[in-house]
Amino acid sequence: MTQSTAPQHLVSRFAPSPTGRLHVGHGWSALMAMDLARAAGGAFRLRIEDIDGTRSRPEHVDGIVEDLRWLGVAWDGPIIFQSQRLADYDAALDQLRAMDLLYPCFCTRADIQASLTAPHGPEGPVYPGTCRALPNAERTQRIAAGMPHAWRIDMQAAVARAGTLRWAALPYPIDPDAHAIDSPADPAAAGDVVLARKDAPASYHLSCTLDDAAMGVTHVLRGNDLRAATDIHRLLQALLDLPNPAYIHHPLLLGADGKRLAKRDGAIALAELRGAGMDPQRLADDLRAGRFPVGITAGAA
Ligand code: GLU
Repeated sequence: MTQSTAPQHLVSRFAPSPTGRLHVGHGWSALMAMDLARAAGGAFRLRIEDIDGTRSRPEHVDGIVEDLRWLGVAWDGPIIFQSQRLADYDAALDQLRAMDLLYPCFCTRADIQASLTAPHGPEGPVYPGTCRALPNAERTQRIAAGMPHAWRIDMQAAVARAGTLRWAALPYPIDPDAHAIDSPADPAAAGDVVLARKDAPASYHLSCTLDDAAMGVTHVLRGNDLRAATDIHRLLQALLDLPNPAYIHHPLLLGADGKRLAKRDGAIALAELRGAGMDPQRLADDLRAGRFPVGITAGAA
């Protein structure tokens, strides 16, 4: 194996959640992330985000692996499963608790919906902070009584501690000669987000940030629906003293109606295209060239 002499060994990744089969948009994203690494002589990793207890299904993991292989997506090293990394998530939660930046939240979805005054952030309604005000004794008592609870970050306190933050944005379409642009992070817009869920040991924000660091990911390529998440991930990196990768946000594949691709748009699952006899090499070439069997890209990258 040839070693890259570049000062930084580029590591990219694809991180699907096994909540269903992959569609064309996933395949396109995975190919772009793989090509980014290959062009730089770096490594491309695969991570399965399988700790969404309610929606993840083990049987989808095999499907994802099969679909990616069919499309010609090949990753380096073992597949990383989030379900095997729970101890790391726990340790980070302990660290943030010791910094006094987390509080238990006992609110139900209905409680939160009921607070109609809640403003909307980039990821939906901003949590009104009800449980932030609970006295410590009350918290201890409720936890001791076995009341289900999530752990939220005290965003104001976290931002005050971390100071002004920026993340490195690389452009889409990918340009190997492009320099990263400093993009200001505004994690506060999302409010007190959940870092450990009632039904899962860690939220997407926490597990993804920790995994990217543990896997040595230097370049995160993902859809621009996750742009606001990047602000939160940058904050967690600062608080937990983790490296901060560069980010490339690509447009999403949309149906002709301008909405995100869905089953109604026809045979868009890779498995269905395969079943219909599509040549995977031709599909991969088409996706790389921005020709999609279904869907159009739109939205600022
Ligand atoms: N698992 C996430 C998803 O399928 C992607 C996470 C990421 O790329 O950061 O949407």
